Amino acid sequence: MDLENLLEFDLDGLTAYCEQRGEKRFRAVQLFRWIHQKGARDFDQMSDLAKSLRDKLREVAAVRDLPVISEQASSDGTIKWLFDVGGGDAIESVFIPEDDRGTLCVSSQAGCAVGCRFCSTGHQGFSRNLTTSEIIAQLWFAEHHLRQRLKLPPGQRAITNVVMMGMGEPLQNYAALVPALRVMLSDHAYGLSRRRVTVSTSGMVPMMDRLRDDCPVALAVSLHAPNDLLRDDLVPLNKKYPISELMAACNRYLEKAPRDFVTFEYCMLEGVNDTVAHAQQLVALVRNRVPCKFNLIPFNPFPQSGLRCSPRPAVQAFANVLQEAGIVTTIRKTRGDDIDAACGQLAGEVQDRTSVKQRILVRAPITISPVGSSAGGCEPPHLTKDLPT
Ligand code: SAH
Ligand code: SF4
Repeated sequence: MDLENLLEFDLDGLTAYCEQRGEKRFRAVQLFRWIHQKGARDFDQMSDLAKSLRDKLREVAAVRDLPVISEQASSDGTIKWLFDVGGGDAIESVFIPEDDRGTLCVSSQAGCAVGCRFCSTGHQGFSRNLTTSEIIAQLWFAEHHLRQRLKLPPGQRAITNVVMMGMGEPLQNYAALVPALRVMLSDHAYGLSRRRVTVSTSGMVPMMDRLRDDCPVALAVSLHAPNDLLRDDLVPLNKKYPISELMAACNRYLEKAPRDFVTFEYCMLEGVNDTVAHAQQLVALVRNRVPCKFNLIPFNPFPQSGLRCSPRPAVQAFANVLQEAGIVTTIRKTRGDDIDAACGQLAGEVQDRTSVKQRILVRAPITISPVGSSAGGCEPPHLTKDLPT
């Protein structure tokens, strides 16, 4: 008989599991705390559980994390782990230390089916959804490994923030995502506040509505373009859920969100989406319509993309337009780029079991406006004609 992996359960799930075995509810809380707060995997360590229960658990259950294939540490303190999830697939997680926090970037899928033009994960194709235990195992491992490695005093957490910004589109793996988020938030586990857990989505509108009702954590939306024509090309999911629907979903989400704004992520691609005119379109799109902040991400290049990162002055000029319109805008500092751990560079190892990779390979090249247009805004007319009304 396969042993049940207890990392698969949120507290309600573990309670049901214990109750099915004739155990009281509080036993599930004890077990949950041992696993997630103390990082225990050996039932014999769990000294306040009755010996009879420990013996029973050993026969039917296990705390099974993911084998680490490799670890790379960047000169800036960023650490990237590659985990084996079986079947020839490997996924990545990244720890990003800062003065006042430790952020873990977590993967939700092996590969991704959305196929964004500028994303290395998207170019790999899609293999499968991760299970709840595979999502949580990334945090379980990182938290308890880092506590030891950094010699943290008892009670101090290594991971203070989680961003679902690793490989995959989290809202296309909703059923596994939500219990994982609940484990992150539980006071009996990692105790992260809803503001400190961020789900990043390329715009799965119906699932944004469900997340709002089921587990409203902080929301980041990968926008990347101010109009549908361009976004259709960069983020193919836009053809299904165009910008107007996405903006409406953001406003609905904000009714229950832990923060009073949505963060829009915008990957700066030279000559593609980075002109002053694009920035002005963005202002028209969001100002007085969606409470938001912008996070401009310098594009992290990878060979197959055929795209280049916007030069720094273009990024700054773009940011200035947004800021002058009163929109809080930050330019993301690239971390861990010496170990390919920056946004969109997580590629793991994925067996493409779909035609996603093939579709990307045959896609027509994107129109890049002439070099030099970045700061001036002289883009091809088709990129501007779809201005929002
Ligand atoms: N699928 C989700 C979350 C994972 S991607 C999403 O798309 O939001 C996390 C962030 O990295 C997204 O904002 C994504 O657009 C950005 N990203 C992807 N590839 C990138 C690249 N090559 N350079 C910079 N940012 C990138
Ligand atoms: Fe998938 Fe996000 Fe990459 Fe797009 S940017 S391909 S949604 S992981």
